[in-house]
Amino acid sequence: VIGAALGGALTTDAFCGKCNELFGKEIDAPIAQLRWIQELRHRHGVRDRYRRVPPPPRVAATVGGRSAAVTMASERWELEIFPTEEVVGNTLRFSVAPEREEEFLAKKLKRLKRDHRKVDLTSRVVDRFEPVAEFTETWRVDMWARLTAKITLGIAASLSAWDWRHSDAGQYVAALALGGAEAVGEAPPDAGVTGMPRVLEAGDLTARVVVPPRHLIWLDERGEYLAIVLFGQFQLAAHLAGRLGSNRAWLFEPRTRSVETASFGALFGRLISEMTSEGPTAAEA
Ligand SMILES: [Zn+2]
Repeated sequence: VIGAALGGALTTDAFCGKCNELFGKEIDAPIAQLRWIQELRHRHGVRDRYRRVPPPPRVAATVGGRSAAVTMASERWELEIFPTEEVVGNTLRFSVAPEREEEFLAKKLKRLKRDHRKVDLTSRVVDRFEPVAEFTETWRVDMWARLTAKITLGIAASLSAWDWRHSDAGQYVAALALGGAEAVGEAPPDAGVTGMPRVLEAGDLTARVVVPPRHLIWLDERGEYLAIVLFGQFQLAAHLAGRLGSNRAWLFEPRTRSVETASFGALFGRLISEMTSEGPTAAEA
């Protein structure tokens, strides 16, 4: 239901091997490899099916036009600006990290003198700047909608509400999961899948009870929507107009690969009392 690389343990055998392979290749693998997801997996020590925690993502970036790399390690992000040097007229221009500046200059002067170049250091201009690294991330825009559709199908299967799949809403969600946005037409009125994840606001109660890196899936009390929170941060939702039943929740602990199924009310009640007994500091840790 939630990919193994994300620490999801709830599985269903309602899909054939071909469909499972397609879900894995087209939805789970690209999601698991997104930098932000990889960063969360690394930071929280979420192991994949081979029991490996991914390394911190390393991404090419630019800093004031210079090429650089950012390593998103769990303690802090490391910025590495690649050294540059050029000679323009009688000026040597170079950029290195401040702590390497003296060493770099000494070595450079020594090398120039060894090459019998006449070098006089007449003036020195130091240009320091606050490094602001920029990098871009691209992904296929329908991936999140497909992930939501796939999770919805998995939940439908695990509830044995399989006749739902043959409703207009179910057929739409299945086509979206298997074929992507190009394969589906207009959504029927009782089915909708949000396309992009929404980052929970700090004041949102869900953001306070679903502590990272936990995942939570729940069918609300009126059965109107299926809400999915990944890593205690990103919310996705499918609107189902009561067709899957109501008041059910699944709480995933990705570090131990455990999943707890309970009624929506009971699970929320327990999470809220857990939060208040441990205090806000523990809940945020
Ligand atoms: Zn199939």
